[in-house]
Amino acid sequence: MAYQVLSRKWRPQVFEDVVGQEHITDVLKNSLESGRLHHGYLFVGIRGIGKTTTARILAKALNCEHGPTPQPCNQCEFCREITDGYSMDVEEVDGASNRGVDEVRVLQESVGYAPSRSRYKIFIIDEVHMLTTEAFNALLKTLEEPPENVVFIMATTEPWKIPATILSRCQQFTFKNGSSEQLVGLLKKITQHEQISISNRGLALLAKSSGGSVRDAENLLDQVHGFCGSPIEDADVRYVLGIPEQTVLDEVLTALFTHKTSHIFSLMERVVSQGYNLRFFCMELMERIRNIVVLKLSKQPDRYLHLFDYTRDDLARYESRTTLSELQQIYWRLDDTERNMRFSPNPRYILEMALAGMTRVQNLAPMEELYAQLQEIQAQLERSEASMPSSAPSCPSASPSTPEMSHTAAPASGMPTESEPIESIASSDELNRLWGQLLAGVRQTRPALVSRLKIGRPVALTQNEFTVGFDPTVHVSREAFDNPKNAGVVEGVLLGLLGRPVKMVTTSQNGGMSVESVREQLEANVPHHTIQAQEFTPPVKSSKSERRAAGGSNGEGGSGRTGTKGVGKWQKQHGKSRHRYKPSVQVTVQDLVNLFEGTIEE
Ligand SMILES: [Zn+2]
Repeated sequence: MAYQVLSRKWRPQVFEDVVGQEHITDVLKNSLESGRLHHGYLFVGIRGIGKTTTARILAKALNCEHGPTPQPCNQCEFCREITDGYSMDVEEVDGASNRGVDEVRVLQESVGYAPSRSRYKIFIIDEVHMLTTEAFNALLKTLEEPPENVVFIMATTEPWKIPATILSRCQQFTFKNGSSEQLVGLLKKITQHEQISISNRGLALLAKSSGGSVRDAENLLDQVHGFCGSPIEDADVRYVLGIPEQTVLDEVLTALFTHKTSHIFSLMERVVSQGYNLRFFCMELMERIRNIVVLKLSKQPDRYLHLFDYTRDDLARYESRTTLSELQQIYWRLDDTERNMRFSPNPRYILEMALAGMTRVQNLAPMEELYAQLQEIQAQLERSEASMPSSAPSCPSASPSTPEMSHTAAPASGMPTESEPIESIASSDELNRLWGQLLAGVRQTRPALVSRLKIGRPVALTQNEFTVGFDPTVHVSREAFDNPKNAGVVEGVLLGLLGRPVKMVTTSQNGGMSVESVREQLEANVPHHTIQAQEFTPPVKSSKSERRAAGGSNGEGGSGRTGTKGVGKWQKQHGKSRHRYKPSVQVTVQDLVNLFEGTIEE
């Protein structure tokens, strides 16, 4: 006998064998028992989940010799005809290839004839959402007033494409995706029966890769079995399905949580060389991160953990090594990355860059904590105000002598005012070195910003702030860094240099270069171009133009043609003949832009 694929061989023939759809099969069985049958059924759900199978079982239940019955016998002539697909009274129509109004008209005609031998004439329309609007309209007429013994069973993966008028005339059943337990249970039954040896972990991997589709799970088992026969090792399953090894995933997670950026590239090299699907890899990481969050937050984690080929203990190792904030940041970055990878010709690079960035994810204080800190600061301020003598100004910022102070973002802790000196944890040498590196870094990231940053000077570095002074006369440059986007560029470079997040703060105290000094520098640096002579031979002129030139119509030494009279005068004045002078280099706007390493913004 020819080989039959597992999904066909194991296609359920009774309602009880349909996996995980009891909420539907129970209703159908009840209505068959009580005789309350509908003329139109709509089965909704993902591919390979049992919609068409259930439709055929329902057809058998209706037309079985012993029916209508919730338990079709599968032995009688009618049942066997339906199973083998040649029953005269059960018509299966593929909506995708018979989507036009003409095909539906043929179907309508067929509806008009009574069933040839069976009790009911049954139409199973698969992928019904593919029908055209005209075809739906034609079908609607039939559904509105169907003959007594006609039943329509429609199946779709995209119910939102079906007109509401059709939906309201059908009994709608939504098929659930198979859970991992249900799918593993089914696969276990099949493998035992087929004498295929495979571990529970292997079955779990198959169930996971099927995305909840029963048929896909069976086909994947077929595929792996075809590859290696029995027994099936876990490594075979991983190889055929492109699922990364547990150890690589563990190592990537460890690199992320221990901020080991340099490990990412060697790990990705391994993943790529072993031929794993990179998007799948990304989703595997997301699943683990999600499960660690569940483990952290849930009081009953076992209820919500989606464990497949790893255990709760495998996850517990990470739980204490990372914070909720880090996990959430990494999760959403992975989500973005996975989406970007879909359309990229270089998914590997996208994943590498994203993972390298994720190793720098820092623990951010939660909002509640920040809010509590702010409240504490406010309370301290109020206390200090209350203790001040009444003659003193109530608020230090009200004093006109206090220079203006601005933060690029609200500081999380401590509010240094400009009247008190800022304590720097770096010496002036260290500050200057950092400043040089910062300028170089910003030049690479956003060259246009360097010219503005250069005008300032480094004032202080604390644990979480970097203060840059600007002269009050160049407030335009300073204001550029009040824009969080620009400050963010500087902070990004600082993060790379210092290895910790540091906020950029600007001050007009201890300012940098004034407008005057900028101008002096400008004048000192503008190149003084020497005007060089270049040989120039005037074009040979016709006698007519010479005559006109002799009449003095051209300006002497001008940009136009030089007349003989003009040349003579020029020669007298400069002692040179037949030379025209023009500067070889001109000082242009571009020179100034280059001098300040800026760019021209439109
Ligand atoms: Zn039967």
